[in-house]
Amino acid sequence: MRKLSTWPLVAILATWVVLACTKVPILGRHQFNVIPDAILLPLGASAYQSTLSSLKVARKGEEHEMVQTIGDRIAKVAGSQRHDWEYSLVDDTDTINAWALPGGKIALHSGILPVCANEAGLAFIMAHEIGHVVARHGSERLSQQLVVLGGLTGLNAYLDNRTELSTEQQAVVLAAVGVGAEVGLVLPYSRKHEREADVIGMMYMAGAGYPPKQSIVIWNRMKRAGSGSSVPAFLSTHPSYDERHQTLRQWLPQAKRRYERNKLSHDTTETLWQ
Ligand SMILES: [Zn+2]
Repeated sequence: MRKLSTWPLVAILATWVVLACTKVPILGRHQFNVIPDAILLPLGASAYQSTLSSLKVARKGEEHEMVQTIGDRIAKVAGSQRHDWEYSLVDDTDTINAWALPGGKIALHSGILPVCANEAGLAFIMAHEIGHVVARHGSERLSQQLVVLGGLTGLNAYLDNRTELSTEQQAVVLAAVGVGAEVGLVLPYSRKHEREADVIGMMYMAGAGYPPKQSIVIWNRMKRAGSGSSVPAFLSTHPSYDERHQTLRQWLPQAKRRYERNKLSHDTTETLWQ
């Protein structure tokens, strides 16, 4: 029997690897993402709707308006056309948390507002979450989790028919894209992803006209909020203050130059929540 050439297979694999390679904005790190947007984006959108349906979402009011305005300003700086951005403020003063899902779906729990303290602090938290989305961290994590799903076979099963996935496998998919709390399984973003979201967030907030130094001081308030008996949910998946400070300080001079070129005319550091 004639031996089949392996070259076509090698060529297909090489093309697949090239197509699966994406680049993290600002930092330029190459990443391996095998999950196509066609799968991930609808998944993010439906998980967002189902998560919000069990929460009390603010539909009007000053804070709701501010979240929309800041989100639009930062998304404009991010310049990504792939996302259908949506920002929700959840009326939940007991929870210090913010989260993001693929496709540009952002949510903030109102308990985080006193930690933000001012408009610029809120801009950083939103820019950090937008940073996770634009850097495709959910997709990268899901690509890594494919091993748990049984590789591409598992993904195909998911594509063909979601119900073919076991409850456990579905939980892994949802947790990987960031809906861990909902399914009782949290896969924290890695330190690397957190560092990247901090840097991207700082650069984006500066580009949107907010003083980047607020991205550093906010962590002091977050630390104080976490010093009591209840650790903020935002912290349980977002590690290490000293490391964050160090990384943000390294990028501060560059972010300041961006801010000087774009700064907003009103004072965004005036205390609004305490
Ligand atoms: Zn984060």
